[in-house]
Amino acid sequence: MKRRRLVFALAASLAIVALGAGTAAAGLFAHQPSGKQRAFFAALHDQHPQNVIFFLGDGMGTQEMTAARYYQGVHNALNVDRMPFTGFDTTWSVKPGAGPDYLPDYDPDSASTGTMWATGQKTIDERISQGPSTAINVPGPNLKTVLELAQKQGMKVGDVSTAEITDATPAVLASHISLRGCQGPADMAACPLETKAAGGLGSIAEQEVDHKVDVLLGGGRNRFTPTINGGPDSGKTVIESAQAKGYRYVTDAAGLSGVSNSSKPVLGLFSPSNMSLEWSGPAASLGKGNAPAPCTENQRPASEPSLAAMTQKSIELLENRRGFFLQVEGASIDKQDHATNACGQIGETVAFDKAIGVALDYQRRHPDTLIVVTADHSHTSQIVGEDASGAGVPTGYSTNLTTKDGQTLSLTYGTAGYGGPGAAPVAAPPSQQHTGAAVPVWASGPGGLAVLGTNDHTDLFDVLGG
Ligand code: MG
Ligand code: ZN
Repeated sequence: MKRRRLVFALAASLAIVALGAGTAAAGLFAHQPSGKQRAFFAALHDQHPQNVIFFLGDGMGTQEMTAARYYQGVHNALNVDRMPFTGFDTTWSVKPGAGPDYLPDYDPDSASTGTMWATGQKTIDERISQGPSTAINVPGPNLKTVLELAQKQGMKVGDVSTAEITDATPAVLASHISLRGCQGPADMAACPLETKAAGGLGSIAEQEVDHKVDVLLGGGRNRFTPTINGGPDSGKTVIESAQAKGYRYVTDAAGLSGVSNSSKPVLGLFSPSNMSLEWSGPAASLGKGNAPAPCTENQRPASEPSLAAMTQKSIELLENRRGFFLQVEGASIDKQDHATNACGQIGETVAFDKAIGVALDYQRRHPDTLIVVTADHSHTSQIVGEDASGAGVPTGYSTNLTTKDGQTLSLTYGTAGYGGPGAAPVAAPPSQQHTGAAVPVWASGPGGLAVLGTNDHTDLFDVLGG
């Protein structure tokens, strides 16, 4: 047991005694305890989950979650709103340097923040579960990940994303590489020291398969079709290498639902690159934006499984008496925030929330399961006034949506597009920037109390089982 946990367990025991005495002596609750109070007491009693399900909404700061909540109607609570414990995490990364101390970078990316929650260590942007170094192209030391520790304890492990499964977030659990772009055997030019031919661990795709992650589901098929150069599987594609290791390989929703035997690992690659978006809608434009319009839902082709379906199947395949660790990423919340695509962003957030609902329903039947939901960094979108005029009109790219309450939700994106001193803003929106605000963290179940208050993203490593 880690010292921090031990201290927490002792404090919790004392709190139970104190609350018990208070209840008896003074009638602490005149009424029946609320669901949140019951959840609190249950979490005080049991801090050691059997299963851990971690949800990562990429770029899903409070504005993104609130936009989804309001679009769906203010009286239609999201699934995440059922979770009893909430806190905040700071997510600053570090700049390259000689060390041992490194200067903070307040605007991180998914690779450095992923390394934080997956390994408990700070690192530099673009880096996948390696420590910092003097420059981004100089590999750092490999860091043990929470997935590797779970495997060591005999737990089953799963990694799911709507992005390429080799994208930074899923990559941090089962690979170690200096640059996030080195995703497949054909992408290794920027990581010459880390190819298998050079004696390294190979690309992210190769390492994920070499880790024998029990369930790997997402997009990114094109990262797995090139040929491996070096090592025992030299000459095979990454898909062939996976099959030689016993993986079943599926490419569509029907194939995934047909998988029922959990004795073999599963590799599901449902798209050549990122998976398709759930929703579409009006494009953002400079200033006040479009006349209000609703989003168009149900845009994902039926051949691609939803994030909720991937979550359901993963739990089914991973469940076993030694427990499991599962990561589920809603990746395109971030990607559509970059693209100033309000409906794309909200649709991905709603789909992510549906996947959270699947896990919460499982937890109701299996209360020994910890669920943690967070984002890896904040992002651009801001809810602004629908009635802005004159000098109050936003300077960024705006979209006006008609919500399910029939009202106008105005979102503006303004972290990129300034044309420079004296120049007009850039007409076509360029990729928006991440932002540096602390991210929300939600938890439910044994061990969940640790997210309360303000913490750092590196603290999640312990919470998730590190
Ligand atoms: Mg990501
Ligand atoms: Zn991003």
